[in-house]
Amino acid sequence: MIDTLRLTAEDAQALLDRGEVSGAELRAAYLDAISERDGELRCFLRTVDETEGDGVPIALKDVISTKRVETTAGSKILAGYVPVFDSTVAARCKEADLQLLGKTNTDEFAMGSSTENSAFGPSRNPWDPTRVPGGSGGGSAAAVTAGLAPWALGSDTGGSIKQPSALCGNVGLRPTYGTVSRYGIVAFASSLDQVGPVAKTVRDVALLYSIIAGRDRNDSTTAELPEPVRLPEGESLAGVRIGVPTELTEADGIEPGVKDAVARAIELAEGLGAEVGECSLPRSVRYGLPCYYLIAPAEASSNLARYDGVRYGPRAAGESYQELVERTRDDGFGDEPKRRIMLGTYALSAGYYDAFYGQAQKVRTLIIQEHREAFERFDVLACPTSPTVAFPIGERAGDPLAMYASDLLTIPSCLAGLPGLSVPCGLSEGLPVGLQLIGPQFGENLLFRVGHALEQAIGFDTVPARWRHGVRPGSDPSGLTPRDSQ
Ligand code: GLN
Repeated sequence: MIDTLRLTAEDAQALLDRGEVSGAELRAAYLDAISERDGELRCFLRTVDETEGDGVPIALKDVISTKRVETTAGSKILAGYVPVFDSTVAARCKEADLQLLGKTNTDEFAMGSSTENSAFGPSRNPWDPTRVPGGSGGGSAAAVTAGLAPWALGSDTGGSIKQPSALCGNVGLRPTYGTVSRYGIVAFASSLDQVGPVAKTVRDVALLYSIIAGRDRNDSTTAELPEPVRLPEGESLAGVRIGVPTELTEADGIEPGVKDAVARAIELAEGLGAEVGECSLPRSVRYGLPCYYLIAPAEASSNLARYDGVRYGPRAAGESYQELVERTRDDGFGDEPKRRIMLGTYALSAGYYDAFYGQAQKVRTLIIQEHREAFERFDVLACPTSPTVAFPIGERAGDPLAMYASDLLTIPSCLAGLPGLSVPCGLSEGLPVGLQLIGPQFGENLLFRVGHALEQAIGFDTVPARWRHGVRPGSDPSGLTPRDSQ
């Protein structure tokens, strides 16, 4: 019996290498888990019957184009759209013999922090199905936690990999902008969008990153990695300088339980030999959200102009071209993309461009500069990933500003194009808390080293308490099980 709740991708690969299971058996185990648990969680928009690979299974967020497999980005306007080509990341997964299990749920066009904006209904958090799994990549993150896929790909514009990983208690990486190809990814905000891995361990995340990263001639913003990906080993953090940005750990709205879990993780890092010191990113917290909510909608309004009912998806009837386009877009887009198209078009319009979009670009440069200064003194920055643990479904759905605030702590480093890794660091009120580690450009190997060392020291159990066998309910209030008992 394969226990998909605990099996890592690395372990799955070892079973395959030793001939102890076949690719088909692995696939069957995950499809069984999906039929058992996905009725409740709704991580998958669709599973696929046929697959080209025969290796470790994988799930892909539905903004990732997959040849002959419907790709909707969680939107009605793309319902029925079947790409005739693979995105570069999907193609690289196939080259690595990974087998596609299916496409995971997302907020419409990756706009949101809870998956409640999906046109196909929300996903649920495996730790507590009355709560959100985060977003926009909630389907991928919840699927990994629930053992419905050993690993998955998400996309992150302002936090959509890191925040759902934090809320679901697993590991997520938003890579350095330009290290992973965006070719074939449904575009949201092109100067921010990045694809990245979600998995149960830092080593799995590093492994999957090594499969997808690197220069792609179809995306001119991509670069060759300056050094090969190193799978992290060992626990020493000797010589690593960790900066704790006060504004990102003290900001209003960060729950006390989140602060405590993150503070404990930082203490553990010190115990492993790291030098910890305070630093300051004053503009990031004050201006990060407003800056992002000008730049991202501006780019979205331009990217989403292509959905005209002529090239993709369903087409509404109309007497004229104008009417056809208007009706298609009116029926096809949900409220959040409409809100962003309007905000973005306004920010870009003649007369307002300098005051809004131009100003936001200048602020973005200042945010880049203040991160650069912090990395003159520190190797890695550490703070919470999300200000809160998973919130109840419905709580923020009617309040866009409360939803946007979920990304307060992830957005600044996204604007700066920097890599960020979220690692589970404990529980608050029985729900996972994520520690966010931010690195300099191309600093992924260092993030993997620090993340792995802390993961070993923390000993977080990624299996939701309600599914742990042999653990009495309530016997493990911290969520931290001693390492030797795991
Ligand atoms: N929640 C943020 C937004 O709605 C970020 C989404 C993302 O990273 N795709 O824009």
